[in-house]
Amino acid sequence: MLDLAIIGGGPAGLTAGMYATRGGLKNVVMFEKGMPGGQITSSSEIENYPGVSGDMTGMELMEPWPEQCCKFGLIHKMDEVTRVSKEGNIFKIALTGGAFEEAKSVIICTGSTPKRAGFDGENEFFGKGVSTCATCDGFFYKNKEVAVLGGGDTALEEALYLSNICSKVYLIHRRDEFRASPATVERVRANDKIELVLNSTIDHVYGGVMGVDGVKVKDKNSGEIKDIPVPGIFVFAGMNVNNGVLKQEDGTYLCDLNDWGEVIVDLKMQTSTAGLFAAGDIRIEASKQVVCAAGDGATAGIGAIGYLE
Ligand code: FAD
Ligand code: NAP
Repeated sequence: MLDLAIIGGGPAGLTAGMYATRGGLKNVVMFEKGMPGGQITSSSEIENYPGVSGDMTGMELMEPWPEQCCKFGLIHKMDEVTRVSKEGNIFKIALTGGAFEEAKSVIICTGSTPKRAGFDGENEFFGKGVSTCATCDGFFYKNKEVAVLGGGDTALEEALYLSNICSKVYLIHRRDEFRASPATVERVRANDKIELVLNSTIDHVYGGVMGVDGVKVKDKNSGEIKDIPVPGIFVFAGMNVNNGVLKQEDGTYLCDLNDWGEVIVDLKMQTSTAGLFAAGDIRIEASKQVVCAAGDGATAGIGAIGYLE
């Protein structure tokens, strides 16, 4: 019987494990289907993690984390969790292959994954001009022109954020109506640094070894192709919240989620189910930053200790 099972080994899961074991919990296992480190390991540059300066890739940032976080007894098992359920006071952790583990408490740290839009060159230039994170990468385009794809709340809010940093933002959307909230749409329309490119899709992104040089945008009505020469394209085509492990056999979820599938937590990262915590990108109102995920993990680890006491 585990004191604590942590699902996911990104910044949130690793930090939760360190705090829980350093705080005295025994038998703490972090289930991570791949190498620990999380999605930041796919980033070619990170410069907003405090205490770390200079050129550093996400892989380099995360490289020392597993050793430090496992120093106090955290065990990493390279397994994919398929479901977490609860019987009485005990959580059951189902693994691929059919094995089960039991735990007295659980922290879910499986993150969320931005959707790709599917235009030509998107994958090729991902991390080299194509981004899904304005907070992470916007600064690299200070006083330059950028393009944003999408018409939801995220796209419009991030376009507004980028308009404070960049000289101009082209907001490309496939319809002439936005699904973002009216107040946000109004703010975007009133912002003279944002140019709307409506009824349009990105046909392809082009560039070279140094990165993106621009996008070719297709007008859906006329078929006309327009060139927008920008070094940065931000894609906000929606999110996949990795909440699948919480889905029960009857189709309900183990704890409360909001309308977008994010796990509802309180300030201690406690979910609506006693003993079940959630930390990092998977939770409501997440800032989706490494430093925030690590902070959540620490809070959840401390919360699990309190719950077991
Ligand atoms: P994740 O890092 O997503 O980790 C989740 C982990 O759970 C993964 O390792 C996954 O393999 C594992 N997992 C998922 N499901 C299961 C399962 N069923 N069983 C077992 N394991 C599972 N943030 C910054 O602060 N600065 C930046 O500059 C920055 N740049 C970024 C650039 C890119 C390209 C990307 C993609 C993200 C960037 N971010 C940046 C965001 C940052 O990576 C995330 O906010 C952070 O990683 C979230 O941490 P997390 O632990 O919540 O989730
Ligand atoms: P979203 O609402 O699903 O919007 C995704 C946008 O991307 C849509 O405008 C969609 O176009 C477009 N899109 C999707 N696939 C595309 C493709 N292949 N090519 C081109 N465009 C594509 O996602 P989100 O903005 O991330 O928001 C997710 C949820 O979180 C929403 O419910 C949102 O309200 C909520 N949210 C709320 C706030 C807030 O309240 N402040 C902030 C952020 C997010 P169509 O419109 O044509 O479908």
